[in-house]
Amino acid sequence: MSSSQQPAPAVKIWWSNATFFVFTHIAAVICVYLRPPTTVPLETLFMAFILWQLADFGITIGYHRLWSHRTFRANLYVRVILAALGSSAFQGSIKWWCLRHRLHHRFTDDPQHDPYSATRGLFYSHMGWIFFKPVYERVKLVDREDLDRDPVVRFQHKHYVSLAIFSGYIVPVALGYLWRDPVGAFIYSGLVTRLLVWHCTFLVNSLAHWDGLQPYSDEDTSRGNIVLAILTGGEGNHNFHAFPHDYRSGPSRLDWDPSKWIIAALHFLGLVKSVRRARPEDIHEARFYMHQKTRCGITDSDSHNKWSEVEWNCEQAKAYITGRPGTCLLVIDGFFVDVSNYLGEHPGGTKLFRDYSRISMDDNGKERWRDSSWAFGGGLNNHGRAAKRKMRELRVARISDDSVFCS
Ligand SMILES: [Zn+2]
Ligand SMILES: [Zn+2]
Repeated sequence: MSSSQQPAPAVKIWWSNATFFVFTHIAAVICVYLRPPTTVPLETLFMAFILWQLADFGITIGYHRLWSHRTFRANLYVRVILAALGSSAFQGSIKWWCLRHRLHHRFTDDPQHDPYSATRGLFYSHMGWIFFKPVYERVKLVDREDLDRDPVVRFQHKHYVSLAIFSGYIVPVALGYLWRDPVGAFIYSGLVTRLLVWHCTFLVNSLAHWDGLQPYSDEDTSRGNIVLAILTGGEGNHNFHAFPHDYRSGPSRLDWDPSKWIIAALHFLGLVKSVRRARPEDIHEARFYMHQKTRCGITDSDSHNKWSEVEWNCEQAKAYITGRPGTCLLVIDGFFVDVSNYLGEHPGGTKLFRDYSRISMDDNGKERWRDSSWAFGGGLNNHGRAAKRKMRELRVARISDDSVFCS
């Protein structure tokens, strides 16, 4: 943990969250003491294990890879099932969860803007954050159109509490009646399963930013850890942070990642589509860079800049987009960057790109391009090496006259 980081300003306690969270822990301990696992039917324990795994996949496949990062597209039935499973995990609605998670990726480790920043300590990043009700200043900058458009997300957000109680408590108790153990079902599938789902998911925010390997990037605290991967449906391969648009958490065949296997199976069955992967060369480059750095102490300058000899003024840039309808041309760090073919891959969505791909008039009636350098460089998102390298690859010309753009 960095001691130089300043803690975020004091915020209100979220009493309803805190009370439910603490009460569930106390109730689980007392109930398990009164009704130990050795005294309940095997069916009860088996159901608790299955419901734990299903709730976990609702989070990893649904909340995380489908809705937060749009790594694939799913039909209505698959989305409804994933929303129901995710509701049973008691981690908030899809919309609530995704907006915070998108903030986490944009501002990883920032003590103020990352909701579960690892730089605020292991306890805070694990579960301390859920006791508070902070105002996330930058959450309004996070793309949410896709979430608002999805009727499943809207319905689940509106009826979240009822859905969570129904899927997390009522369904297990009803199933427990089948072998006449509704009380055991309540204790093990209602209370104990809740703790397992919570703490295994929270480990991704805490231990997976604390201990493990960094084969892809050391720009933030994310790390890969095989024990966590087993406990979290594959999410413990967390150093893949730099490639959030990839449906896999571990791209190697040897990486334990049941969530990616399930997505691949659903794809094979035709139930999901548009399954996205990072480009192999980008993954290879990231691994190669980290290998060179950790084994040989070499840090390349990555000064890939093939367009440095081509210079455009404003008129030339306008001519370029005029001949290409739908082109999305940005100004970043003194270069024109054509991101048209990258729009669908951008983890932050397309809206920001479109907002910044704009020519506007200044006070003197002069046309100017909007400069994205601030937004790209950390104002809206702390982009990592892989993203910066990608933007360099997409450069089409150097700006010949700085006065063509405005901030
Ligand atoms: Zn993370
Ligand atoms: Zn993520």
